[in-house]
Amino acid sequence: MMAPEASELGLDLRILAESPEVCAAAVVPTAPVGDYRDLDALRRFALGVDVVTFDHEHVPSEHLHALLSEGVNVQPGPAALIHAQDKIEMRRAVERLGLPNPEWAAVRSPEELTEFGERAGWPVVLKTPRGGYDGKGVMIVERKDAAGEAVAEWFEAARAAGVDDGALLAEEKVAFSRELSALVARRPSGEARAWDVVESIQVDSVCDEIIAPAPGLSPETADAAREAALTIARELGVTGVMAAELFEVPGRGPGFVVNELAMRPHNSGHWTMDGSVTSQFEQHLRAVLDLPLGSTERTAEATVMKNYLGGSNPDLFSAYPAAMAAHPGAKVHTYGKGVRPGRKVGHVNVTGPADDVERLRAEAAGAAGIIRDGAPRGAAGDHPWNRSEQ
Ligand code: ADP
Repeated sequence: MMAPEASELGLDLRILAESPEVCAAAVVPTAPVGDYRDLDALRRFALGVDVVTFDHEHVPSEHLHALLSEGVNVQPGPAALIHAQDKIEMRRAVERLGLPNPEWAAVRSPEELTEFGERAGWPVVLKTPRGGYDGKGVMIVERKDAAGEAVAEWFEAARAAGVDDGALLAEEKVAFSRELSALVARRPSGEARAWDVVESIQVDSVCDEIIAPAPGLSPETADAAREAALTIARELGVTGVMAAELFEVPGRGPGFVVNELAMRPHNSGHWTMDGSVTSQFEQHLRAVLDLPLGSTERTAEATVMKNYLGGSNPDLFSAYPAAMAAHPGAKVHTYGKGVRPGRKVGHVNVTGPADDVERLRAEAAGAAGIIRDGAPRGAAGDHPWNRSEQ
């Protein structure tokens, strides 16, 4: 989704594609195929570019250090990025900065896990420090299961992976009221800007909906959350867009604890495509190129973003007539990915007045639902394209 913004700015965007079929390759003319875990592929790709940046966090840190030492401009640099790659490193940094963490510990055995659970309370949230996403790599462990097979397997895998000294991350299970996200962007020369803090609604550990700004969030908590994200970005030397995912816990500290960090345009920032003067994709490009950042002002009082995951409709376009006819205010963003159940394949944004958020949510959910599930037969907007005689 950086491609349209790069094109608007007249930038020559290249991507290192995992295969010729990846959706970005359809919109970026220069998309050499290569493995992001292969240093030589990265070296070839980086030849002659002004800056290398990311749309995921999985490029090995040691490769990024190698590129950096060879003079490649990597933004964000590996020393910052490690805090989005490794949740134990992130916990240490948040603690060092004096920002609110849940109770946590790096644990290396079921015994250490049990010790932590006795101290922090059960159940415990056990996480693989690296490589997790969308809830993969998160296990809720009850006291009776701490010495069980599933936990033992995770410790074994952690030892085999050989990172973090074979440790897993144990966290208290936070009794949060909702999840929030504080999105910021920072340039290498220091300028930083924050968007409004948003509410992030997850279904089965996958982001489902974003409400911007987070309804009813106390101004003190909103300010503290924005400040925390800006502090993290500044102190860790983050460049580009960064999302600080937060758990809202009213009455505890500033009203939130940090969950995790992402250093790239993030699902919780997709609303900015239609709800902010500068979208997170444009801002990321500006930031990594060390250009002055754009305004993060909202263009509407409120924006709702609703994801659509692969569902019962394999042909998303067939539902467009019905979705567009029923919800003309919905801005549709389809990623051009193959439709697989549970895969994020697009989102819609709906903007409007802050006192009408429930209508915006209904509009967004309505449009996304039609695209995901297909138009009901005879729906408004039933289109000749969709009729079998065509
Ligand atoms: P991922 O990297 O897969 O996104 P997260 O660390 O964000 O993993 O965890 C996924 C989800 O699990 C969170 O969105 C939240 O709902 C729940 N979760 C994670 N950590 C905790 C915690 N310490 N306490 C309570 N719930 C948690």
